[in-house]
Parts: sequence; C-alpha cells; structure tokens
Amino acid sequence: MSSSLNTETRPQAPQHELMSQFSCQGDELLLGGFSLNAISTMLGKTVFYAYDRQIINQQIQRFRAAIPGRIKLHYAVKANPYWPVVQHMRPLVDGFDVASQKEMLLALQSGMPVADISFAGPGKTDTELAAAITAGVTLNVESASELQRICQLGKQHKVTPQVALRVNPAFELKASGMKMAGGAKPFGIDEEQVFELLTQIAAMPVKLRGFHIFCGSQNLKTEALTEAHQLTFDLAAKLVAACPYRPDLINLGGGFGIPYFPGEKRLDLQPIGLSLKHLLQQYEHALAGIELVIELGRYLVAEAGVYACQVVDKKVSRGTTYLVCNGGLHHHLANSGNFGQVIRKNYPVAIGNKMQQAAAEPVTVVGPLCTPLDILADKVSLPQADIGDWVVVYQSGAYGPTASPQDFLGHAAVAEILL
Ligand SMILES: *Cc1c(COP(=O)(O)O)cnc(C)c1O
Repeated sequence: MSSSLNTETRPQAPQHELMSQFSCQGDELLLGGFSLNAISTMLGKTVFYAYDRQIINQQIQRFRAAIPGRIKLHYAVKANPYWPVVQHMRPLVDGFDVASQKEMLLALQSGMPVADISFAGPGKTDTELAAAITAGVTLNVESASELQRICQLGKQHKVTPQVALRVNPAFELKASGMKMAGGAKPFGIDEEQVFELLTQIAAMPVKLRGFHIFCGSQNLKTEALTEAHQLTFDLAAKLVAACPYRPDLINLGGGFGIPYFPGEKRLDLQPIGLSLKHLLQQYEHALAGIELVIELGRYLVAEAGVYACQVVDKKVSRGTTYLVCNGGLHHHLANSGNFGQVIRKNYPVAIGNKMQQAAAEPVTVVGPLCTPLDILADKVSLPQADIGDWVVVYQSGAYGPTASPQDFLGHAAVAEILL
C-alpha cells in the first residue's frame, strides 16, 4: 500500500527552493555549523530563533554584486533588532534606518556614524524628536506639523535639526506585500503638498538633508520594482530642483522581498541593478553629488533565520494528526498568518532532526496557546515525527520575536542566537 505514496522516497529537504540555504549533517539541520540539539544545549533552551551570519553576508553580497556601488545600502533595524545582528551588520552596510528611540540608541551604540542613521515613522513624540535632534540623527519628517515641532525642539535644545522630508508619492509600488505610499497614508507628506513646503523651508531653522521616498515592502516583482525606481528618480529630480539649496541625501526606498511560500521565487537583482544603472546615467546631472540610498530589512536577514521548537504532544482528532509544540504565535506571529497576510499560507517547515527522511505523514502543527489562531503549519506532509523532535520554521530571520505578542498567555520568552 505504501508503495503508492510517491512521497516515500523523496527526502524531506530541500522540499523546495526556499529551503536550500542551510546544510545538513545526516539527519541534522545545521545553522552556523551547529545542530539544533547543540544549539539547544548551548542556550539551555528548547525554543529559539537561530540566525546564520553567513546567510546574512550572502544576501548583502547579492545586493552588492547586482546594484551599482553609487547606491548605498542601509539596514532597516526593525526587521531584526537583535543586538548581535545589529553589531554584525555595522561594518557590512552603509547606514541604519531606525523607527524608534530604542532602535536609534542601538544604531548609535553600534558605532554607526550619526550622519548615516535616519529615523522614520509616524507619531514621533517630542521626547523621540529631541533625542534624535540632540544626537544629530537625520529625522525623516512625516508631516508638516511634525516639521514645526522639530523646529521648536531644535531651538529649545540649541541644535540645528537634520531632516529629510518623507514624501508620500502619487504613485504606488505595485504588487507589494505591504503598500506604504500612494493614496491616503499616515506615512510621509503628500507629493502635492511637499513642493509648497519646500518654498518655506529656507526660512526654517533646520538643515534639509534631502528626501525619503519609500513605497512598499515585500515585493518579488522585478518589473514593479524597476517601475517604482523610475518614478522615484523622476520625483527625486523634481524635488531636488525645487530645493532652496542643494540637498545631500535621497533615500530611494526598498521593498525587496523574499520568498515565503511555495511557488515564490527569489528576486533576481540583475535586471533591477541594470535598470538602476540606466537611471543613474539618465539622472547623473540632476542628482550629482547626492548620496543615494536603498534601505532593506527582511531581504538581508529573513532567510538567515529559523524558528525552532519541540514537539510536546502528538494526537489524532477525528482524522487529523496534530503535532503540538512548545512554540507558537506568541513567538512568531508572522508565521501564524496574523501579521499582514490576507489568506494564511504555510511558511516552509521541516523536522530539523529528520532531514533525510521522506515526508510520510500529513500533520497540522500547532502551538501551546488556547486559540485556533496558533498554527505553525496547516496540513503539511512531514516525516513521521515524535515527541521531542524539532519543528523548524524557515524564512524566520525578520519580524520574529519583536513582532510577536510574547506576553500573551505568559509563556517563557523565546531565546535568540547568532551563529
Ligand atoms: C519597515 C520598513 C522598512 C523595511 O521593510 P522590509 O520589508 O523589511 O525591507 C524599510 N523602510 C521603512 C521606512 C520601513 O517602514
């Protein structure tokens, strides 16, 4: 009977392209050369995120190889603010983009030059603004009224604030996992309003460094990204021309996605780099001497991380086999499908200590929370798993612990390690 199962001789991993970044030793998945059991013993924990620094390096290398060197690379710290990751990134990228005072302090303490740190996000409080102004961090201004508060706080603290106007363009980044521009948005100053503001800025007690044009996130479509780059360069040139003095910085946004689900392909950066090369030629004079930046979060770190937890219980309920684990949505909200997905899809998962074994059993993998939302993987085919085996969720290096409701139900906080 079992001979009719075509899954029988298929090794468990790599199930598909998305799971090819790590190596194995026999049945054991390796991160930074260590098995999950070894990492568990090192940490003294049975639930953890493990990040592989070589994969981070490789992603940065992919960017550098394809994107013209004229364009600088910033890391968006919110994707993974784990301190060893931030420190690892420090010499590998050209700047940090932060979204809170806490992230700003991480960036400063990493030793990143203050001129290469920018602080974006709606609803910055006076406390946060004053901290950034005093530190000399560039504030990406999200509204005209925020700019007024920045002027007042600069006077009060006797420091000239460094600002970049975040522009909400009239266009959008098509086919994005998250659209953050075009139409009505809480982010940035509408393109239609920003030119008027530029006529007043010379009289304001701030240093206008330039502009921040960020359209969206998690995009896997080359054409959508190159089209957005064209529109962004065009807008940037118009903004520069309308400035009372020469700005020195334009953040072109980011949005490079990573594949999470079966059928999704890794982004090919070659055509994106080629199109940027042409744009750099086309706008050579309009943008001469101005630093150009692309800011990326998940592209740099998501593939480098796994979330690992152990099977605590195995049960059958009316024909469905459940693997019940000691980890779940309280540690990894995004994997549960509750962090922006419209329809829940499974992240790639594996049994991390049975990597050579064939997928043999349809199971639903759940966490320990008393809510039907706590799903790690719904109806997947995995090797025969037992209590104590490792369930591993791939593509988990971004938006993990800090994007999850860790206090929900009061379970222990998740451990992290960079190897
Ligand atoms: C969240 C965010 C990023 C990072 O997005 P990723 O999808 O992780 O690359 C970059 N810039 C801004 C302004 C953001 O809000």
